[in-house]
Amino acid sequence: MVTSLLKVSYNKKIIELVKGDITLLEADAIVNAANKWLKHGGGVAAAIVRRGGEIIQKESNKIIAEYGPLDVGDAVETTAGMLKAKSVIHTVGPVYGEGEEKIKLWRATTSSLKLADDKGYRSIAFPAISTGVYGVPPELAAEAMIEATLKFLDTAKNIERVIFCLFENRVYSAYEKKIKNLLKEGVVEHYKD
Ligand code: ADP
Repeated sequence: MVTSLLKVSYNKKIIELVKGDITLLEADAIVNAANKWLKHGGGVAAAIVRRGGEIIQKESNKIIAEYGPLDVGDAVETTAGMLKAKSVIHTVGPVYGEGEEKIKLWRATTSSLKLADDKGYRSIAFPAISTGVYGVPPELAAEAMIEATLKFLDTAKNIERVIFCLFENRVYSAYEKKIKNLLKEGVVEHYKD
């Protein structure tokens, strides 16, 4: 089950926080917190292949065979297989401790948004990149990902809804805190139907 818990508007666009499994979402694109080799062995990546099918891993392997390993901050697209989403965008976040984590998370978020926007997608769902095995504190990820999203939405052509799908309570709390601060500062507003 996926529960929508907080919805705000920014620049006529919607930012939404939901709790649950990203593989169940119906957004045009869902983002995978991948590694440089697109080996979807654990965490959210494994969940995406499990539900979407091996086709996602096969297409990933083709990308790596053709272009070599990705850089941190890159984003590439594969089919979504049997998922409800139309597309999976794979991006690589930083490992905590390697340095410049915030800038790298900013880049991973922006390149995913740009890829989706260029494809004409209107909605995109992100997991909390790098906050699992890669060990980045959720507060840092929330700051980088949400700030990058606001900046991108200033000039987005097609994206009108960005969903952050958080799996763990501690991670959800960090994203909620960041959005609540933005509400307090008047940067975003509560969404009204
Ligand atoms: P990374 O290697 O980038 O840290 P992980 O997949 O280990 O990637 O974790 C990234 C985040 O995704 C973590 O907050 C983890 O709790 C979360 N996560 C794991 N499975 C799912 C899922 N099915 N849907 C959404 N988020 C998930």
